[in-house]
Amino acid sequence: MNQKTVIITGSTSGIGLGIAQVFAGAGWRVAINGIAKEEDIEEIRLDLERRSNSTVVYLKADLSTSTGCRQLIQDAQDKLGPIDVLINNAGIQHVEKTVTFPEDKWNQVLNLNLSAAFFTSQAVLPNMLANQWGRLIHIASVHSMVASKGKAAYVTAKHGLLGLSKVIALETAGTGVTSNCICPGFVLTPLVEKQIEAWGKEKNLSYEEAQKDFLFEKQPSHEFATSEQIGDLCLFLCSDSAAQITGIGLPIDGGWTAQ
Ligand code: NAD
Repeated sequence: MNQKTVIITGSTSGIGLGIAQVFAGAGWRVAINGIAKEEDIEEIRLDLERRSNSTVVYLKADLSTSTGCRQLIQDAQDKLGPIDVLINNAGIQHVEKTVTFPEDKWNQVLNLNLSAAFFTSQAVLPNMLANQWGRLIHIASVHSMVASKGKAAYVTAKHGLLGLSKVIALETAGTGVTSNCICPGFVLTPLVEKQIEAWGKEKNLSYEEAQKDFLFEKQPSHEFATSEQIGDLCLFLCSDSAAQITGIGLPIDGGWTAQ
């Protein structure tokens, strides 16, 4: 699989960064993207380049707009040539009851967590189809399958993302291109740390107590999934062994969705 090219959206932090580390470690050419301080981005890029012994580029793009999504794919192709694998990972969360959920947060979550995956996939597909090989991997969520209170926009976007991936899978079946969702339970990243802090505040718990309580409520293993495990799963979906896996939502959730 060496010398294939992967682009991972939202890979300056959390799960996306973990996935980038796994692909870099396997010698892939990697394009990263995300919002962070310039010096932090360069540090991340250099570290990935050391791991990969190959090219790692950072591509700036705000994926909450269709223009930003199309620009990202264009820039990636200009710098690295045809993209073999697109991993749609960038995402945000906002937790609030539906009755007071703010319109701007609704739009931000839907734009980044759902529409961005449509626009990047649409932009990258023509080359993948021409090459008769490609992988679209969408980092969805257990919230593509089940709901939680306070997450109207996120659950809507993640259910939509699984639907989008299934449509692309049907439209590309037999072409060498596959489209799948990975559906993590809780992974300890900045996105979840914010929720644990809010949980602790609400229940008057220390951060450590809140972390345990938070996992206990949903994830039967009482352990976080890790970004590295998700990266390894992405790499497997890029292997020949996964050529017939398409249109699925694959939970990595310590049993959350088995309940
Ligand atoms: P994170 O906050 O650590 O990382 C999010 C990434 O998205 C960052 O690199 C950030 O810079 C980037 N980003 C934010 N806004 C952007 C924009 N407008 N344009 C481009 N990039 C932008 O979060 P994470 O926990 O690593 O989440 C990554 C993905 O995994 C998300 O789609 C999330 O929904 C999903 N997920 C996370 C968990 C979890 O428990 N952490 C569980 C299930 C699914």
